[in-house]
Amino acid sequence: MARARVRRNTTFDGSYLPAERKGDVRAEERPIGLDGELMSDTWSFNATIGPRDAFQPWTRRMANGKMLTDPANASHWELCRRFFTAVRNRQFENAPHASLSTLNGMVGVICNLIDQAISFGKMSLSELSADEWEIIKKRSGISFNPWDLGRKNTYGRVLFIYNVIVDLTRLYLHQAEDSLYILNDGPSFPVFTSPREVEKLARLLGRAKGKTPDIPEAIAFPLLNAAIEYVVIFSDDVFRLQDTRIRLLEQFPTPRDKSFDSRQRRVAIARGLLESYDNGDYSLFPKLKISTTALSRAYGLDPKTLYHKLYRPIVQDFDGFLANPTVEARLLLESGIDKLARQKQHRQKKPNHRLHRKLIGLPFSGAAGRHSPWPVRTVKDIQDMEKDLWTAAYIVVANFMADRSSEILGLNTECVVRRLDGYYLRIPIYKEGNPEGGTIEERPCPEIVVKAIEVVRRLGHPSRTAHNKDLLFMLERSRKRGKIADPITLNKAIRRFAKVVGAHSINGKVWRFNSHQFRRLFVTIWTSYYEFGGNIEALRKYLGHGDIRTTVRYATGLTQGNALSEKAREMTLKIINSIAFEGREVQGGAAVRYTKVLSRLRIRLVPETRIADWVTHHVDKLKTVLNPMPWGYCVWSRIAGKRAKCIAEDQRKVGKDRPNHKEICSNCAGCANFLKTDVFDGFWAAAYDRHDRIANNPAAPDTLRSAAKIGRQIARTYARLEEQDA
Ligand code: SF4
Repeated sequence: MARARVRRNTTFDGSYLPAERKGDVRAEERPIGLDGELMSDTWSFNATIGPRDAFQPWTRRMANGKMLTDPANASHWELCRRFFTAVRNRQFENAPHASLSTLNGMVGVICNLIDQAISFGKMSLSELSADEWEIIKKRSGISFNPWDLGRKNTYGRVLFIYNVIVDLTRLYLHQAEDSLYILNDGPSFPVFTSPREVEKLARLLGRAKGKTPDIPEAIAFPLLNAAIEYVVIFSDDVFRLQDTRIRLLEQFPTPRDKSFDSRQRRVAIARGLLESYDNGDYSLFPKLKISTTALSRAYGLDPKTLYHKLYRPIVQDFDGFLANPTVEARLLLESGIDKLARQKQHRQKKPNHRLHRKLIGLPFSGAAGRHSPWPVRTVKDIQDMEKDLWTAAYIVVANFMADRSSEILGLNTECVVRRLDGYYLRIPIYKEGNPEGGTIEERPCPEIVVKAIEVVRRLGHPSRTAHNKDLLFMLERSRKRGKIADPITLNKAIRRFAKVVGAHSINGKVWRFNSHQFRRLFVTIWTSYYEFGGNIEALRKYLGHGDIRTTVRYATGLTQGNALSEKAREMTLKIINSIAFEGREVQGGAAVRYTKVLSRLRIRLVPETRIADWVTHHVDKLKTVLNPMPWGYCVWSRIAGKRAKCIAEDQRKVGKDRPNHKEICSNCAGCANFLKTDVFDGFWAAAYDRHDRIANNPAAPDTLRSAAKIGRQIARTYARLEEQDA
């Protein structure tokens, strides 16, 4: 589905531009959905879904060193509030359907403009001169984001900033229907002359949007394989360890920190002594000196305790004050008590890990697998494994659903639904224009995703119970705060997992994983599965090799059409080049064509670079794409429709699209578009055995046996059994 743009056309008819602004400003309104006071430090909106809190915080420090909510910035804050409400309530013509997060971004831009006005020594945006606006326009090309400081903004970001300036201008200068103004401040003349100028300048200053890099295949496949192994093979053992660990924590609770109790008591004694002194009650210090007997009796202590190094200073300090009760001595005494009271509160002692380790029976080794994490030696290792399993489940979901991290982290525990035709994932989509923070969409999902979701549901159960929350991606570790991972923590977890399973570097160079890269990884997997499929052994085992088609089929529903065709082109070039230069053995109708042409070129002693150029030209000109099937590739091109066996003869023509799901293996084997490489040998060997069994079964019907004989003959050729026999 195409991602919708939030922006709309902006009018530049100039009709709203009076020579100078006259008239009153409207009374301030409440934005739709605001839950609370208009003048509170943070606006909260309760109409959202998923884990995102819909807040608009106003707690920002401005360039004058004061908070936005400070009376010194009253008009600036009012401008931000008014603008927010104007867009949210769509108070003006052509107002955008902006989501709360987009509004948040718009307010950020306005604050930034105000900061720049302050830096020019101006009290408001309306005081800025044309020259100063020119400077601001140019500065908008540079990022002020602390993570990206000084880098060129993208074209889209510059356009976003310019559009906010345009909106500010027209809302400040344009009288609404009631002849009142919406904004209290804004540019006092049009900063841009036309939409063309906005567009042109944004293109000039902005950089093209950076494409998320593709995870190289050399680490993508091992990473995904490891993630699937964790989800499918190791999860049961991890749950067993987790259950035992949590049960032991409850059975042997963490001992209480006794020093905390003692500190509380000392503070109480010292404050009690001062209070008695203020009240004129001298019973605890009858001779202007503390009576240890009276004091210990009053607080139920052993008198000897008062001579302990922790209590002695209290007695000595108070005796000193009684001997010289000056104001300074009193202040000193009070500050000492406050300091003691402020000392770090109740530091939880660590659980008895040694005991737990013994009771759990560590070291522990579980089910075997290529990326096996065993043995687990310590309780901390168990916690790390829980985290790794969580990350693995995330990678599986992200890879096969190709959704954004915020959308995946927004899933709740009831996100999988079973329909007649299989499983569907109910996923919150944030970026597609719903102003209330997202919509729920149902998308078909493969079985491996259902398994990953089951794993993460079980993993986060203790945390969800503790916080009475329903978010899927909660982890037992987040028990204290009850929050799910933020993007930075998520990226760290992915990098850690990649390192643990040894899929983090290529030729010694560490790959910087981030969660967004998984949106493209499935495309890589889908287009290249058969060439590199052996690497995803865990998936093959889990689904059975034939069923992999069902899983990869979901890729066809992806929204990343471009990425898909780019990847398919890459793979096509890679395979044809491997035929041309590595002498890779291929079979099938397409193979005959390629080998003929390539050998002709070689006989003519055409240099290798020209052969490579020919391959690229051929692939691009004919729009050739290799479509993987379990038995080989269907080489589809502009002219493939003319000779495709799966199309009725009278309908074959140039420029025809490849028929969907119509392929039949027996047709393909004799088709001019068919290409078989060595990675499909396993399929054909198994097919040979199957046909052979039927052909030799006297109980099988004759028609079936004769069909099996033909099938056996075809399979024999493609399994290259003749060569092996020879
Ligand atoms: S018969 Fe098979 S190889 Fe030939 S065009 Fe159809 S799907 Fe492709």
